[in-house]
Order: sequence, then structure tokens, then C-alpha cells
Amino acid sequence: MSGQSAIERERAARKAAEAKLAVLEQSQKYKDPAVGLVVALADSADGVAIWDASQTLLACNEAYKGVFGHHPFVEPGIKYADLMDLTYQERMIWPEGFRDGDWRVSLKDRRTSKTMPRIILESHDGRWFRLQNRHTATGGTLSMVVDITKSLAEHRETQRQMIEAEAASRAKSAFLANMSHEIRTPMNGVVGMADLLCETTLDDEQTLYAKTIRNSAEALLVIINDVLDYSKLEAEKLVLHPETFDLEHLIHEVVMLLQPTAQDKGVDLLVDYDLFLPTHFTADPGRLRQIITNLLGNAVKFTDDGHVLVRVTGLPVSDSTEMRLHIAIEDTGIGIPPDRVGAIFGQYNQVDDVTHQRGNSTGLGLTISKELVELMGGEIWVDSEQGEGSVFGFHITVPHEAAPTRLRQIDTADLRSVLVVDDLDVNLTILKKQLQNFGLSVHCALSAKAAEELLAQTEVDLIITDHLMPETNGLEFAQSLRAKKDKRPIILLSSNPLVLRSSDASKVFDVVLQKPLARHALLSSLDQIQGRRPDHKAHAKTLNLTVAQQDTQSSSDRPMRILTAEDNATNRLVFEKMTKDLNVDLVFAHDGNEAVDLFRSHKPDLIFMDISMPEKDGYTACREIRDLETRPTPICALTAHIDIEAASVDHSARFDRTLTKPLKKGQLLEMISEFRPKTAAPLFSLPQSALHQADKAG
Ligand code: ADP
Repeated sequence: MSGQSAIERERAARKAAEAKLAVLEQSQKYKDPAVGLVVALADSADGVAIWDASQTLLACNEAYKGVFGHHPFVEPGIKYADLMDLTYQERMIWPEGFRDGDWRVSLKDRRTSKTMPRIILESHDGRWFRLQNRHTATGGTLSMVVDITKSLAEHRETQRQMIEAEAASRAKSAFLANMSHEIRTPMNGVVGMADLLCETTLDDEQTLYAKTIRNSAEALLVIINDVLDYSKLEAEKLVLHPETFDLEHLIHEVVMLLQPTAQDKGVDLLVDYDLFLPTHFTADPGRLRQIITNLLGNAVKFTDDGHVLVRVTGLPVSDSTEMRLHIAIEDTGIGIPPDRVGAIFGQYNQVDDVTHQRGNSTGLGLTISKELVELMGGEIWVDSEQGEGSVFGFHITVPHEAAPTRLRQIDTADLRSVLVVDDLDVNLTILKKQLQNFGLSVHCALSAKAAEELLAQTEVDLIITDHLMPETNGLEFAQSLRAKKDKRPIILLSSNPLVLRSSDASKVFDVVLQKPLARHALLSSLDQIQGRRPDHKAHAKTLNLTVAQQDTQSSSDRPMRILTAEDNATNRLVFEKMTKDLNVDLVFAHDGNEAVDLFRSHKPDLIFMDISMPEKDGYTACREIRDLETRPTPICALTAHIDIEAASVDHSARFDRTLTKPLKKGQLLEMISEFRPKTAAPLFSLPQSALHQADKAG
């Protein structure tokens, strides 16, 4: 422009003024106010054009002409049909996706359609436009063409990057799932065999080596799981699988798992499950178990004396069947320094003083728990005082299955008052609450001595005593009562019910219950004392000993038939060794085809089915068996996948249960015991060996 002479500039200005005048004249001529709009937008970067009812161009701005490369024909007066022909023949411009075909008819038809949807135009010089049209009041058309070349390029680049990122993340996820499977399969061999090795006769040095292998392998698995879970959460690939489950039972299972460690340290593990809280909820039980295991595991790890308590309460959410569940894990451990509490849920965050250096850890447990709780729509928090202890708590809002369970009252005809003896105040409080709710009057004593004093002055129908107490323990206390010819029923609460093996114990106690106590176990033992039949099944779940005892009773000599489909030879060996002491008829299938064949010929009472097998996988074999069966056969999936998400993608396969590898002997035996039909012989031939098995299983 700067090179233009004054004459040239004046000529250009005159030309522009003449063009505006011409448009204005046309506007007068056609009396269309939209022409004024085009004049007003003469310098706009977006192309604007106005067509009359006969689709003749009334006016357009420079940007509009620019779309057509300022072709001399594109001037007011040109017919829309002619403009289409011109651009088509000269291959100036075409609608997106129509580079090769004839698009003129569809574009002309579009003009007469009611809504005229937006379209994208591509130009021969690589530009892109968005075309929008409106019908005018006089029956014509207003066109607006916006150059979107730049934003489209950016958008396409973002999309390309997104697709690439998604593909990379999918590949990462698949890699992680595969890696998890690949690592866990041989680890099954390591853990399983080391487990079995520990049970053979070894000298002290060998025992130390074998236990070290087992503990190291288990620790490695925890770390692998943490890292894989964390990567999944980071890639937002973790999906929850809600289902209805028994929360109280789940909590007791976790507690039972940690009981041996707590017991070794002399730490009491307690559960206070709110009496009025229902037990069945809908959430992802696997993930909930993971959170609770994590928090409870930490609490046990960082507590050297005192107790760890799981407290479960809930509040109904008004106008819904949902409940806000609060689960808090309190410990009397070392606590967390105030300057570290705030960051404790951050990744790789560990308190780095000597007191916190305990065993294997990744510093990911709390991060994963926090992410999982948030994925469930809840919140997690911590309250801690150094040297005093910590409370880790979380809440989630979940649907519950039925109205809160109304605990029935005990028939109080000959059971009115009970004496509870425990050196731990918190335990007394929990028990008192539970027993009062059954309609009993409750007296508490913090020691055997205090109990004896109380018994001398108070009417008591039943005595419930803790096992390990300072000075006089529960067994000695009961023995001294029996020596005084006291015939009142006595229930022993013990975190180590092996005491049952001692004949002394069976002479003095009416019932021995595993600590921490499940409400139904307490209720059924009260029933038992009342002379009613106890609820064996519910009881059996919390008490491995009862499982074993039950399994010594049967009307038949036919051993339970088990079919296990597993392609990996080491895993078959592990399975065989883990079940070697059971009175079962076990056959192995090496792949899915053989599993289906053996289902027909062996008629198993229970099937264990590996998921990944050559030829025919576990899902397909399971489905085929479901089609063949005349009565439901329990089928338990065996998977080396890190979570059920990967294992149960194919829900149509309808597995009854899932066991994750490495297999745990205790879990395996519990499952076999659960599904042993009444018509099959007991799993353990001798009661003593039954008890022995159950101890190991626990
Ligand atoms: P990890 O236990 O694998 O180190 P976590 O994320 O579970 O990782 O815990 C992070 C850190 O928080 C622990 O290393 C420990 O220092 C501290 N911590 C967690 N729970 C407790 C607890 N109950 N008492 C004391 N410190 C705890």
C-alpha cells in the first residue's frame, strides 16, 4: 500500500465508494434491508452475501469474493446456480467430503430446505470455510462464510494428539494387565511352593530360608499390585464393579487376614459394627476390601501395643435407599508428626523418621485408597497425634439392600444378665452395647479378680470372658469357677482359638469364639446356650475351626468330586499339594476342551477354572458347562489378573466365585468346604487333623 501513488489511492477509494453506491442502489431497487447489513460488513474478515428470492446475488463483501479467489464473475447479479456451476467446473471449492463427486444438486436443494444446516467447504488452495445460511424475510438467503483454516488445523491436531494419547494409554493398560498376569503366574508357583515347603519337616535354618522366600514373594506381590493399581488410576482406567455384598462379613474377612500379625505383636484387633446398620450394600466389594486392608494393614504395622479398632456407622440419606457409611480405623500406634499429616495421602509420601521405617512399602497405599474412595464419590481423612495414635476414616454413600436389620431379642427366660470380662475398656464398651441390644443386662469387669468380686454380689446367668488378660487369663478364670462347681455357661473370646485343642478348654467353656467377634456369631452362640440350634453356616464363615468340625459330619463315604482346569503344570502341582490332605476326588483338565469333557464324565461337585487357557479359555468352557448342566454346579474362576475387572469382563460366563492367584491354601480350603455337598464324605477324616488343617488354613 505504501508504494501506491496518491492518484492510485484516490482511484481505489473512488472505486470502493462506487461499489458501495451500487450496492445501495440495489438495496433501494430490491428494498431488502439485509443489503444494508452486507454494506455494514464490507470490511469484515468473514464473507457475507445476500441473495434475493430468485437466488440472484444482491450484494457481497470482499471477504466473500475472496472465497472464490476474487473471480470476476462473482459480482452482484450472478445467479446462485451459475455460481455453483462456475465453482464446480473450475474446481474452486467443494463441500467437505465431495472432492470427487458432483455436489451441485445437493447444495441447490439445501437452499430450499427449511433449516439449511451448516456445512464445511474446502477450497482448492487448502483453506477451509464454514458456510451458514439463513432465509431472509423477503424469501431470499443470507450467506455467511467464515475462514476456519487455522482453528480447524488446531482442532485436528488436538484430535490427532488425543487419538494418539488414547491409543498409547490403551496400549499401556493392556501392557499392565498382561504384565500383571505374566508376573503373577510364576509368582503363584513361588508363593505356593514356598508355602508348602514351610509345612514340611525342616530344620531351623531351612525354615528361615523357606519363610524368607515366601514373605519376600508376598511382599513383592503387594508392591507389584500397588504400582499397577496406581498406574491404572493415573490412566483413569480403573472401573468400579458394584454388586451387593455383606459389609460386615467383608470387614471380618479383612480383620481375620490381619489377625495373625496383630496377635504376634500383642495388638488387639476389634470391630465395632453399628448395631442398627444393615449389612448388605451395593458397591465394589473388591475395591472396598482393598481400601480397608490398606488402612487396617497400616494401623497394625504402626501399632506396637494397645489396639486397632474398625468402627462402622451409617446415616440414612433422606428420600433414598442410600446410606452414608462411615468407616474409621483407629489405632493406638506411633501416630504421624503434625508436619507430615497434611501430605500423607500424596504419592510416595512416607514419614521418613526411624520409627516409621517398617518393612516393605511403596508409599502408594494411601494414595490408592484416596483415589479409590474418591472414585466411589466419597472422602478420606486422617486425624493423628504423634505418639498417641491415628484415626483414618472415610465415608461413601451407597445403596443398601433392605431396611436396617432389626436385631431380634434373645429369649430372656433363663438368660437375663451377663458378665463380660475383658482388660480392654473399648472391647467392654462394644460388647456391652451389643449385648444390651439383645435385651440382656450387662455387667463389666476389667479383670478376673474384679469379675469374681462381682459374681459374689450379683446375679449373673452367663459369663463371657476374654482369653489373654494380665494376671489371671480367661482359661484360668474359667477353671477356677469350675473348680468352685460353678455351672454357669462360659463363652471364651479368643484371637487364637487353638486353645480348643486343649481338652482343659473344652471342659470349661461352652463356646469358644474367634475375636474380633461378628454379631451373628455372638447371636448364634447365645442361641446355642439357650438350647436352640445355632446358625452353623454363618458361624462357619468366621470360624475356621467350625468349618473343620462341620466337615467331619456327613452321611456318605463318597469323596467330594473336584475338577480343576489349569494349563500350567506348576500351578497344577501347587493345587494338588494344597489339597493333598483333603478327602477329595480331584481331577485335572489341561485346557477348556478337556474341562468340558471331564465335566460330563467326572460329574464334579465343584469346579475350579483357570481363565486363560489355550484352545478354549475359562469363559467359554464355563458357558458350555452352564449349557450342559442339569443342576447348578459351583464354578470358581482362577485368575492371575490383578483385579476382577480383567477377570470377569465376560460376565455371561456366570462364575460363582473368583480366586486370585497366587492361591492361598486357607481360601482354597474354605471354598471347598463351603461347596461340599451333604452327600459327600467329610473333607477331614480325623477330627484332630481337621483342627490341624483349619489352623493352617487360618
Ligand atoms: P506405605 O505403607 O506403603 O509406606 P502408605 O501410603 O500406606 O504407604 O502410607 C504412607 C505412610 O504414612 C507410611 O509409610 C507411614 O509413614 C504413614 N502411615 C500410614 N498409616 C499410618 C498409621 N496408622 N500410623 C502411623 N503412620 C502411618
